[in-house]
Amino acid sequence: MAAPHFVVVGNPVGHSLSPVIHAHFAREAGIALEYTTLLAPLEAFERVTRGFFAAGGRGANITLPFKVEALALANLASARARLAGAANVLTAKGAILEADNTDGAGLVSDLRRNLGIALSGARIAMIGAGGAARGAIAPLLACNPSVLVVVNRTPDRARTLANRFASLGNIEGRALDALAQDRFDVIVNATSTSTKGTPLELPAECLAPGALAYDMAYGPAARAFVDKAKAQGARASDGLGMLVEQAAEAFWLWHGIRPATQSILALLREGA
Ligand code: NDP
Repeated sequence: MAAPHFVVVGNPVGHSLSPVIHAHFAREAGIALEYTTLLAPLEAFERVTRGFFAAGGRGANITLPFKVEALALANLASARARLAGAANVLTAKGAILEADNTDGAGLVSDLRRNLGIALSGARIAMIGAGGAARGAIAPLLACNPSVLVVVNRTPDRARTLANRFASLGNIEGRALDALAQDRFDVIVNATSTSTKGTPLELPAECLAPGALAYDMAYGPAARAFVDKAKAQGARASDGLGMLVEQAAEAFWLWHGIRPATQSILALLREGA
């Protein structure tokens, strides 16, 4: 019998590390599976993804730019996918497609477990109000920070997000320049600036003593942000751990096994 087939769907998708990460988890768990990339034309996400599942595919990770479409495609969605308004996991359950979003859980696991950050009582700033920021807000608020301030170049988007999640914790939406008016223990860069090659510079005033500056982007794209934050005296990390942890959460959903993440994270860092 053929091994169950999983994919990551995106455009572009050739650069995705998901096949390497899931193959590593599967080897360690002693599970046989096939995990490949699936390039969907921009206008044909639904056709390509439905075709994969119609051919017996078991599960798909969804990456840019299809996470919102993925949620719309599903018959059922988890609460965290609905709150995020986007899905990065689709799972076939008989004829039903279930959507989930593991990005925010991946961020929280990386911050807490891999980086040893205490989020309860922390002052957290999130820069950006796009899809990645939206997916991270509910999992961050569930950790009971003293405040989560969302700042964004377009302030109205930050305020809209803060209103949307206000029932879940202490959250505020502000303009980007408000960052310099406060001090934070954790600053998460959820903008696309690093991936676009125009890295964000943090105002030194926003860094509390011992603060962590975290870029959701990873690899060479995040280097300038990380180096600059370190030069300002902060701890700093890119988002490679978030990528690995969101994959581990998807692996758990699909196979019921929680994979250890340290060895693949170390391997990917060696190769970076
Ligand atoms: P979106 O395109 O949805 O959002 C982009 C955000 O960046 C917006 O808030 C936008 O502000 C802001 N922005 C863009 N350019 C600038 C600029 N020059 N100055 C200030 N703000 C700017 O992107 P995503 O939310 O999908 O992704 C954000 C980042 O997160 C990417 O780097 C992505 O690779 C990374 N990511 C990492 C993951 C991981 O597992 N490590 C998972 C998911 C995402 P405005 O509203 O004003 O336009």
